[in-house]
Amino acid sequence: MKINMEYCLHENSPKKDWLPMKNGVLRLHPHCKKCGAVKDTSSDAGKKLGYFVNSLYKLKLYLDSRGYKLSQAQIRLILMEFEKEGYADIYSVSFSHQKEAFVKIVRKYVKVSEDVIRDFI
Ligand SMILES: [Zn+2]
Repeated sequence: MKINMEYCLHENSPKKDWLPMKNGVLRLHPHCKKCGAVKDTSSDAGKKLGYFVNSLYKLKLYLDSRGYKLSQAQIRLILMEFEKEGYADIYSVSFSHQKEAFVKIVRKYVKVSEDVIRDFI
């Protein structure tokens, strides 16, 4: 199901499928007829990768001013992982889901508290 998802431009299937929501309730969901990705229909739409690039640079400024370091290499690794895991796909990932993933990935590379990261998302 995940094959080529990051390069897929996504096109809604003509029919919807019954799929469980995060709370377990079944609802009709559109999905992509090319790669099978399920469209996120929650109200908090996902943000494009550029949004998180911005967040990282704001976080970098903040950390730099406090004598910590967030290098270009770390930033690249964070963004690569975020994208590779499919979180930049705004068709299927909600903003809240992206935020959770972003915080988790950033913390793998930088020793900084969750609250600080959230301040910059
Ligand atoms: Zn698709």
